[in-house]
Amino acid sequence: MKNKVAIIPGSFDPITNGHMDIIERSSKIFDEIIVAILVNPDKKYLFTLEERISMIENSLKELTGIDNVKVDTFSGLLVNYAKKVNSNIIIRGLRAVSDFEYEMQLTSMNKVLDDGIETFYMMTNTKYSFISSSIVKGVSGFGADLTKLVPKAVAEKLEKKLKEE
Ligand code: ADP
Repeated sequence: MKNKVAIIPGSFDPITNGHMDIIERSSKIFDEIIVAILVNPDKKYLFTLEERISMIENSLKELTGIDNVKVDTFSGLLVNYAKKVNSNIIIRGLRAVSDFEYEMQLTSMNKVLDDGIETFYMMTNTKYSFISSSIVKGVSGFGADLTKLVPKAVAEKLEKKLKEE
């Protein structure tokens, strides 16, 4: 049987427990998962690309029994990246109705660009449905316990980064 490779694209600035939940659950369904960080020179990120890669890699080490997830980066069109890695599967997380409109646009656009691409949506675990990278950044830097929001590998880095800012 052909290996089913699925891509989880995003900014991951930084990766949160919500992202991790989607990664863990989808890794049990598909043969291989690629967490693909979008490189967008026009967007301002808190963490550098290297920092985001290493935080995801370290966070993955916190998951037990999962060895089919890798981290990569891409720029330009996601559909072109998907072709490059021989995948036609995109996975996105859906937190609330407010995510839906944007996600529908994105999926429709990708379908126009490449009809062979299929996007799968995974409902977020309700305990993570309020978490976004930006809301996490908003409460960091003040000494709060961030481990309910982000993996341990991220909590420390986030606190330090925001103190420096
Ligand atoms: P983007 O800039 O593409 O939205 P993000 O890194 O913010 O990148 O998100 C990447 C993916 O993870 C998106 O599909 C987003 O909906 C999903 N996601 C973000 N936060 C959560 C969460 N708390 N639970 C589940 N999915 C999430």
